[in-house]
Amino acid sequence: MKVPLLDLKPQNEALMPQLREAFERVMASGVFILGPEVQNLEKLSAAAAGTKHAIGVSSGTDAILLALMALGIGPGDEVICPSFTFFATAGCIARTGATPVFADSNTDFNLDVADARRRITPRTKAIMPVHLFGQMADMDGVMALAREHNLRVIEDAAQSLGAGDAGRPAGSIGDFGTFSFFPSKNLGGFGDSGMLVANDDAIADRARLLRTHGAKPKYFHKMVGGNFRIDPLQAAMIAVKMAHLEEYTDRRAANAVYYTEHLSALEGVGEHGTARVRIALPSTLPGKKHIWNQYTLRVIAGPEWNGTSSPRDGFKEFLTARQIGNEIYYPRPMHLQECFPPAGPERPSLPVCEQLAAECISVPIYPELNRAQQDAVIAAIADFLKQ
Ligand SMILES: *Cc1c(COP(=O)(O)O)cnc(C)c1O
Repeated sequence: MKVPLLDLKPQNEALMPQLREAFERVMASGVFILGPEVQNLEKLSAAAAGTKHAIGVSSGTDAILLALMALGIGPGDEVICPSFTFFATAGCIARTGATPVFADSNTDFNLDVADARRRITPRTKAIMPVHLFGQMADMDGVMALAREHNLRVIEDAAQSLGAGDAGRPAGSIGDFGTFSFFPSKNLGGFGDSGMLVANDDAIADRARLLRTHGAKPKYFHKMVGGNFRIDPLQAAMIAVKMAHLEEYTDRRAANAVYYTEHLSALEGVGEHGTARVRIALPSTLPGKKHIWNQYTLRVIAGPEWNGTSSPRDGFKEFLTARQIGNEIYYPRPMHLQECFPPAGPERPSLPVCEQLAAECISVPIYPELNRAQQDAVIAAIADFLKQ
């Protein structure tokens, strides 16, 4: 059976009348820049993220860039972020003229705060944890570190709208939280768009100004901003889907439970670090609400791993031959990217990030995935382990 990594059609088809209605409403309104549709999505997003302010923007990437700009991050500054993340986290730091300083991760795929602490210098201005794959990073640790060193905090929550930690929503804890509505995210839109959230009035105001060229009033520029606006058409259609976010999350979580239950019954599958485990399952940490943007396995490379090809690559080929959708998020950590040459003569070593990049592979988890499809994924993994 062919199982796609992601199929957006059933989710959107189920809402077609409402989506069409939203499309027609915007067309009839003649308002195509900001306006009430954008304000409405901002209101819904602030409620979902538990923040006072939400600012609709053109992408998750632009949300990060705008947050950094609003905090005045620029040349001479250093911003600490995990190396094991999507490029935008680090790319935006570099685009402001600041230096991304890469920290290692934990086996939960998120920032290792103890390692981040070792990388603080007098130039460190901010820290940007990423809530990767749908589970929040250690925000207590991040906030304690930030308080100690007077750092700004941006939560890259592009993959974690609706996630939580001890009741605190992703994006609501730092100075800014950033979200993406890229189609493959847990609340996927119809193209590129994103959302920036904040609680502080002054920094939210700055971000709002910078979203439209720093102008107030129009044509009078207080700051150099850009055009980072979300489209009303996009906002109106995403608002339709936002009403179903919890239901999508519940279905993702149910799929994760099903995988974990059936996969952990297989010989060679278990929690990372237990004996004879060849495939490690993702885990939910205590107190965290995981929204399962991805279900990410680790095909354990073992101590004999030579740093190049890994057993994960064979597993990927096996799944692909069985027509099981899969993707490697992410094959190369940021500290090893060509565009980020090391500051000194040697590349920093971030062993956990490098190991994760060699071992990780994500399998289908989208809300509309059915049990027969999940069984096909589980059967393929069982067959792989038998060889
Ligand atoms: C997707 C993603 C982004 C960027 O979002 P876009 O909307 O694609 O620009 C940033 N950070 C992380 C962790 C992401 O997964």
